[in-house]
Amino acid sequence: MEYVFLGGAGEVGASCLLVSVANRHILFDCGIRVNQTGDDALPDIELLKQRVSSLDAIFVSHAHADHIGALPHIHTAFPQTPIYTTEPTQSISVVMLADAVRLQTREENEDAIPLFTQETVDVTIEKMQILKNSEWIDLWEGWRVKMIRSGHVLGAVSILLDTPEGTYLYGGDISTFNQKTIDGLAQDEITGIQPDFMWSEATYGDGNHPARSTEEKKLAESVAAVVENGGSVLIPSFALGRAQEIILILRDAMISKNIPVFPVITDGLVNSICSVYETLTSHLGTRLQKFLKNSRQPLFYYKNFQKARMGEQEIICADGVPRCIIASSGMLTGGASVVYAKALAANEMNAIFLSGYQDAESPGRRLQELTQGDTLTFADGTSVDVNCQVERFSLSAHSDQEQLLSVIKQVDPKALALVHGEQNALSALHEKICKDYTVSCPANGEICERTAEPKFAVQITDTGVVMDGDIINSKLWTDFAEGKHQAVLKDGELIIRKAE
Ligand SMILES: [Zn+2]
Ligand SMILES: [Zn+2]
Repeated sequence: MEYVFLGGAGEVGASCLLVSVANRHILFDCGIRVNQTGDDALPDIELLKQRVSSLDAIFVSHAHADHIGALPHIHTAFPQTPIYTTEPTQSISVVMLADAVRLQTREENEDAIPLFTQETVDVTIEKMQILKNSEWIDLWEGWRVKMIRSGHVLGAVSILLDTPEGTYLYGGDISTFNQKTIDGLAQDEITGIQPDFMWSEATYGDGNHPARSTEEKKLAESVAAVVENGGSVLIPSFALGRAQEIILILRDAMISKNIPVFPVITDGLVNSICSVYETLTSHLGTRLQKFLKNSRQPLFYYKNFQKARMGEQEIICADGVPRCIIASSGMLTGGASVVYAKALAANEMNAIFLSGYQDAESPGRRLQELTQGDTLTFADGTSVDVNCQVERFSLSAHSDQEQLLSVIKQVDPKALALVHGEQNALSALHEKICKDYTVSCPANGEICERTAEPKFAVQITDTGVVMDGDIINSKLWTDFAEGKHQAVLKDGELIIRKAE
């Protein structure tokens, strides 16, 4: 088995993995770097074309832009290849990719991400085949695949591939814990599967999250405190996943009277994704499904909750009503959240609460790091003085270090690679597991080979190297111990050769 990351190794963005095994070529995900423009935003499609003339299958783990944003480009390059995913991911991809087309066609974004059209999106979506979770599906002779719920966001899966040459697990983005909208990783389905290789995300490989329920309570109470004092709160939020969580956190806190009822406005792509969630109720978390059955209320609605309509932003910014605004994008890179941030940031009665991963290059990361009174510059070049309260809440939809360690332990792969993380996160997780596992942190473009385990037993004793019962002569062993010889694993065979 040979694999190469065309993007998404040593970084969070443009996830795209090419795996070649048993004479077939498989692609896992094909995303973009959301804060880059032009070709820099894309995975290395040229390298892909150099390495393969055809692709047998594309698997899509979930509908975040860093996993599907370049799918139309790939579909254009490989129009015959079937794209396998889950029902929610297909439905959400329709909205996410249409939004990408809308952004690209805006004049100020002329030289942003290379264009694809709505027609290309339509044919890409048509090529998608829906696979059910938790079931082995036959692909070709000796090949089968299983989608395993990975938590994270609605429709997200880890993908287990059984091939004539071994079993491989592509973890995708993982949350082991239940969230308000969805249940966590289906742990019973990954326990003890011992694949020949696993690719694991490591977004938060360098730290542990505070207790989820404490953080949710803190967020709700902090928002309520600002609103009670006459200010407004902006929560820039990822349109997919995070925004829906925050709406339900506020709603649940109001229903249980932990905080008073106040107006909540949602805006941007958030609203379109909420509408898709509303059509996919059978995929929602067990607790939420029960609540919906009993309450018979709309999914993301409570007394004073409102979806902003087109052109309403100026009125909302100017009317002075204290409220909470949940708007995309989550890293303040563009969209409705930037409009509200510009209107709210200068007033110290207001607040901006960040709620998740902030890319190193994003305005959200800069906001998180600046001090009160500093100036924040947005992607369009405009800037604003930041006098409002800025706080960060940890509501990540990714597992933290401890949770990732337990997943790896449960899966118990024969070897694994850590990806989808910044360098320090990758190193920290690597450090934690390198004693117990064969583990690497590959780079983008690096061709990695995974040979099968050697078929013979090798044992190193005080007197020599024992291979299948025969002791290699003690002269060789002395040379070996003195570093004159070294053992190298090549094509599944252990070779003892002169040290270089
Ligand atoms: Zn994701
Ligand atoms: Zn991701």
